[in-house]
Amino acid sequence: MSVFASPDFDNHELVAFGSDPESGLKAIIAIHNSNLGPALGGCRMWPYADDDAALRDVLRLSRGMTYKAALAGLPYGGGKSVILGDPKTQKTEALLRAMGRFVDSLGGRYHTAEDVGTTVADMDVLRKETRYAHGFSASSGDPSPATAYGVFMGLKAAVKFRHGTDDLDGLTVALQGLGNVGRRLARYLADAGAALIVADIDETRVAQAVHDFGAVAAAPDAIHRAKADVFSPCALGAILDDKTIPELGAPIVAGAANNQLAEPRHGAALKARGVLYAPDYLVNAGGLIDIHVGEAGGDEKAVLERTARIYATALEVFERAAAEDAPTGAIADRMAEERFRSKEKRRAAA
Ligand code: NAD
Repeated sequence: MSVFASPDFDNHELVAFGSDPESGLKAIIAIHNSNLGPALGGCRMWPYADDDAALRDVLRLSRGMTYKAALAGLPYGGGKSVILGDPKTQKTEALLRAMGRFVDSLGGRYHTAEDVGTTVADMDVLRKETRYAHGFSASSGDPSPATAYGVFMGLKAAVKFRHGTDDLDGLTVALQGLGNVGRRLARYLADAGAALIVADIDETRVAQAVHDFGAVAAAPDAIHRAKADVFSPCALGAILDDKTIPELGAPIVAGAANNQLAEPRHGAALKARGVLYAPDYLVNAGGLIDIHVGEAGGDEKAVLERTARIYATALEVFERAAAEDAPTGAIADRMAEERFRSKEKRRAAA
């Protein structure tokens, strides 16, 4: 395994490998950039095929967090951690506490929270070992409500940019994934008058949405083809690729799923097809905002008000992308870099 030669290595400030033989912990923490503040990003637990896959994931995800925090205007750098293992069979209190000590050993350079494979209850356990664990039950807790609201605002901004109004009444949204974020987003959309086409591999979730919102069910592998005004991926990453982009049934893509573009070049492919893409890390920053505002003592109203700023940032991204004839993702990246790199320049000049 090579760190520095990895294609996903982007001058990360720190990559730390941690192990605890007694509990079976094997974990990696990566800090990409901390110009704007201490690195913050979730702790993912996943049965990676091998160590390389885990390293690639943590390098890529921590970099993404730098961009997400910068674009959301938050005082954090980008970091992430991964635990190598199956959360269904290998997660124990001892392992989580060992992870807490690993996080703590960095003295606050990296702050963690829940992610895929970890929960609010797990953060309660980490918290016994470190004060650098967030999203625990006595604090902001579940970030999904704020994430769903932020996606809703980003989706509305995309509709506004395309239609001149952000009224969703009478529009159709094809929603992929009815989990923590997707089902809350479905509620916002239905309340705003949008018709829903939904897909999930969990049939009970589909049945619930059909019952609650009068949604129309679609097959999980066909939802991206559904004729709709907006396609909202809220399940898996890498959903936008060479196969799905030509098949898309909606002229706007705005959803919560992380890393929706299979490769960066797919941003240009979407643009070439005339699809307006709301960059995922821009519209799904609500959970991060929730941690920031919640731990500063803000209530739910304050969290949602802060999250609503995603609307204005998204509109700015769409307008700059149109003016420069560039993919929206390239503009969002540049806006984030303008924020976190300007500090780098100031420091170098000092
Ligand atoms: P979740 O696990 O609660 O929900 C995901 C849903 O997608 C589940 O209902 C699952 O059955 C469904 N699904 C899985 N594979 C599918 C497929 N092939 N087709 C259709 N449905 C499928 O996750 P979540 O917390 O709702 O997050 C959704 C996405 O948003 C993830 O990509 C996550 O990384 C991202 N995200 C979440 C948050 C948050 O606050 N929860 C924040 C930022 C980004």
